[in-house]
Amino acid sequence: MDEFSFIDSIKQTYYRQSSLIKGIGDDAAVFRAQDLDLVTAKDMFVENVHFAKHTMQPFHIGYKALAANLSDLAAMGAKPLFYLVGISISDGWSATDINEIFQGMKELADTYKIDLIGGDTVSGNELVISITVIGHTNKVRYRSLAKEDDIIFVTGTLGDSQAGLHILNNGGTYVDKDYYVNRHQMPIPRIEFSQRLHNISRLALNDISDGIASEANEIAQASQLSIIIYEDKLPVHPSYNQFDTELQHKWKLFGGEDFELLGTVAKNDWDEVQQVARSLEVQITEIGYVSCDHPVGQVFLQRKNEKLQRLEKKGYNHLSR
Ligand code: ADP
Ligand code: MG
Repeated sequence: MDEFSFIDSIKQTYYRQSSLIKGIGDDAAVFRAQDLDLVTAKDMFVENVHFAKHTMQPFHIGYKALAANLSDLAAMGAKPLFYLVGISISDGWSATDINEIFQGMKELADTYKIDLIGGDTVSGNELVISITVIGHTNKVRYRSLAKEDDIIFVTGTLGDSQAGLHILNNGGTYVDKDYYVNRHQMPIPRIEFSQRLHNISRLALNDISDGIASEANEIAQASQLSIIIYEDKLPVHPSYNQFDTELQHKWKLFGGEDFELLGTVAKNDWDEVQQVARSLEVQITEIGYVSCDHPVGQVFLQRKNEKLQRLEKKGYNHLSR
């Protein structure tokens, strides 16, 4: 298949976004921005760095690449509109594989009614996918917006994606095997949840791509406050305790790729956040609070009957058990 018939094959037959003026087919796409803030993000995925052929089918690779990008928009409080896909294709990938990668993206695009409006296609030494997403919002959820006494919450459960990867790499018998593998291959970006919080005047949000320790530190630093997290409140799936204790601890704090949202909100607005979560059947858990009484820009883990411990961005080795 040549480049041109390939582009024809991925081109949508119609576009859903009314603001789009020109999609695929010219030198660039054109859309008309209304009086809203445009939000854009990019995430790249490189074979054998971000994914491997033996743990992800082509469909999953495409799905997850777009999910990660949409998750960034969710963390900004933005509604997604468009995406563009740069792809470098290497020898080991057939036309069918590439088609399935785009089918994986299309699955999410259909769900959120967003349009593929451009990209670039080249050949290279490994498969690389670089997606740009564009969205809009009238209320941006910066990491810097946390305030003293805010509640810290997280959606869903933590550590599932790494548990799924562990299962895919090691085989064996596990309870809820399909659940964990699915969480690794097809994470759900929390777009709807983030959108439905639009009435809340102030929220700080960050999505969990690198692990909750890392994301909490980013909020603490950006907001120049400290964050306290109760270890025993961190939400995990009911069968999560089947894994090795060390691994459970490592994955839920430093695992990443769960693409859940970590947020802080004023106590007064916590009821509404919970109501939105309930109406969407999204699990939500209060896991700690924002404080002024500790060194700014730092995160602390409160473990049962122990003193506060510093939780570094990637501080697993520093944690004494
Ligand atoms: P140009 O040579 O002007 O850069 P291309 O031949 O690269 O144009 O692309 C032609 C059209 O196809 C453009 O609209 C471009 O955005 C689109 N396109 C190319 N590759 C992709 C891709 N991987 N995903 C989506 N659109 C693509
Ligand atoms: Mg080009």
